[in-house]
Amino acid sequence: MQGARYELRASVDPRGKTLRSEGVLRYRNRSPDTLRVIGLNLAQNLFRAGAPHNENVPVTGGLVMDAFCVARLRGAAPERLCAAAGAPEVTPDLRVNYTVAWLNLAAPLLPGDSVDIQARWHFAIPSSEAPRQGTDGGVSLLAYWYPQFSVYDDVAGWDSDPYLATGEFHQDHADYDVRISVPAGYLVAATGTLQNAADVLTPTAHARLQRAAHSSVAVPIVNDSLRSAGAATVAPGTPAGMEWHFRADSVRDFAFYISREVTWDAMAAVVPRVAGAAGQDTVLINAFYRPRERAWRNAAEMGRQGIEHFSRVLWRYPWPQLTLVEGVVAGGMEYPMLTAVSVGNDARELLTTIGHEVGHMWFPMQVSSDERRFAWMDEGMASWMERSLLRQVDGRDGDAESLPDLYRTVLATRVEQSMLTHADHYASSLRYTAASYDKLVVVLRAFSAEYGDATLVQALRAYGAAWSGRHPYPPDFTRMVFDAAGPEREAFVQEWVRGTGHFDARIDGVARMGDTLMVTIRSSGGAHLSVPVAVTRVDGRVERSVIPAFRFREHAVQLLRVGDATSVRSIVLDPDGARPDVNVTNQRWTP
Ligand SMILES: [Zn+2]
Repeated sequence: MQGARYELRASVDPRGKTLRSEGVLRYRNRSPDTLRVIGLNLAQNLFRAGAPHNENVPVTGGLVMDAFCVARLRGAAPERLCAAAGAPEVTPDLRVNYTVAWLNLAAPLLPGDSVDIQARWHFAIPSSEAPRQGTDGGVSLLAYWYPQFSVYDDVAGWDSDPYLATGEFHQDHADYDVRISVPAGYLVAATGTLQNAADVLTPTAHARLQRAAHSSVAVPIVNDSLRSAGAATVAPGTPAGMEWHFRADSVRDFAFYISREVTWDAMAAVVPRVAGAAGQDTVLINAFYRPRERAWRNAAEMGRQGIEHFSRVLWRYPWPQLTLVEGVVAGGMEYPMLTAVSVGNDARELLTTIGHEVGHMWFPMQVSSDERRFAWMDEGMASWMERSLLRQVDGRDGDAESLPDLYRTVLATRVEQSMLTHADHYASSLRYTAASYDKLVVVLRAFSAEYGDATLVQALRAYGAAWSGRHPYPPDFTRMVFDAAGPEREAFVQEWVRGTGHFDARIDGVARMGDTLMVTIRSSGGAHLSVPVAVTRVDGRVERSVIPAFRFREHAVQLLRVGDATSVRSIVLDPDGARPDVNVTNQRWTP
C-alpha cells in the first residue's frame, strides 16, 4: 500500500453551511514503479452540476479549489512549484474530471520518494439528502471534504473509477493531523484521538470524559444539564478553545460531525491486552445523539458490545476510540473510528445497525478491500458480523429460516446477479443489496455447515492477519477463507461466489422394492453441499449418513437405499437445519 500524510485545517460555518479548508498532502511512493501522474479523489464533486450519478443527489457546486500546487518534488523545475513568480494559484497540471482528478507531475516520482502538495478549498455543505454526509440543520456530518489520493496497486494500477453514489470507496491507509474550527458551543466528533480536550472542554466536562475512559457504564459528558458554550465547551472569545485537534494513524479516511444540540455519552470497552503490555486495554466508546432519540441512551453500550464481541471472535480492535453519531445518513455509514447511524427509535434496529457499522471497523477499515468493485468483501462481512453480534446478545440473528430477506427475494424473482459485479453495474438496487450484503452471509453459512464454525473463524482470522492494512482481491479472500475445502475449494467458489446457484436438497420420491426403500435425493439449485440424511425407525433409533457434495456435482440425483422398509418412521435431509436450504418443505418423507 502507498503512503500518505494529511495535515489539514478546516473551519465550518454551520449557519452559512460552508466548509473552508487548507492543508499539506504528502504522498509517498512505496511501489517499485516510477510514477508520472498522481490520482486524486474529489468525491464532493458528485454534487457538481452535470456530474454523472446513479442515485438522486443534491447540487451544491462541489469542491471549489482555491489553491493547489506542488510544494516539494525532487527534480521538478522551480517554476512549476508553489510560489513561483506569476504562477497561477491552481496549477494547470491538475486535471479535474468531476470526482476523479489527475496531477501531472513536473518530475517523475521515483520509488521511495514523496511529493508534497499545498491546497486550499471550500464547498457548500450538502443537505442530508446527499448520500453518506450533509447537514439536517441540527447535526452535520462532514465527509469526503478534502482531496484524497487515489489507490495505486500492483493489480489494477491507478483506481480511476468515478464516485457515482451507489458504489462506495477504495482508499489507502494514511496518517492524519486535523484541526477543526467551529463556533463556540459546538461539539466535534471525529476519526482519531482528540488531542486537546482540556482546551476545548470546560473542566467539568473534561473530568467526566476522563472518568468515562475507565467506566463500565455510560457517563454523560454533555447532557441537558451541561450543554452550550461556557458550560460544556469553553466560553466564546477563547480562540484556542474553538479549534478541535485530532490525530489518527493508519486509517483509510477522516470524517467528522458537529452539533450544539447533542448529548455526548462515553464509556470504556475492554479488549484483549497487547502482548507485553500491563493491565487491561480499553477502547473509549463515544455516542453523540439528540435527546429525542431515546433508543440512543443505550448506543454507547451497544458500541461496547460490538467492539468487545468482534475483538474476541476475530481480533483486537486496533484504535483507541470508537464514536457513534446520530442522524444525517439513511441507515448507517462507516468511517474509521466513526460511524453515523439513523434508524429511528427502535432499540433492536439500532443494535443491528450499530453491529453492522462496528463490523466495518474490521472490514474494510482494516482489511482494506475495494468497496466499489467488490462491495461484498466489506458489506458481506459486516452483515455476517452483525448477525454474530445479535446471536451473542439475544440468540436471534433476524433471519427467517436462516436466509436473509433480500436473498430470498432475488431468488423468488430470479434476478440474482453475481456478487463479483461492480457495485455501480447492478441492474437494480435490490440486486446490488442482495449480492453485496446478503449473499456472503449465505455463503459463509454454507461453508460453516460443511467445515464447521471454528474452521471458518480460524480462516477469517488468518485472512485478517494477512490482509489488514493491505488491499485484498477476491481470490485472496477465497483461497484463505475457504482453504479447508481443499480440492473442492474451486468448485465451491465457482458455485457459491462467482455463480448464482442456490442450495436446495430435496426428496424427489421414495419407492419400495421388496424390503428396501429407494430414496431419490436431488440437489437442484446448482450450488452443492453435502447432504446429511437421518433415518428414524419406529423404535426411535436414528441412523445418520452423509452424501458428499462431489457426488451431486457428478449427478444431481442420488439414490439412497434404506433397508427394513416397514420400520422406517421418517427420512429427513439436513436434520439440523444447518444448511442455507432455500426450501425446507421438501426434505422430509414419512410413510
Ligand atoms: Zn455496510
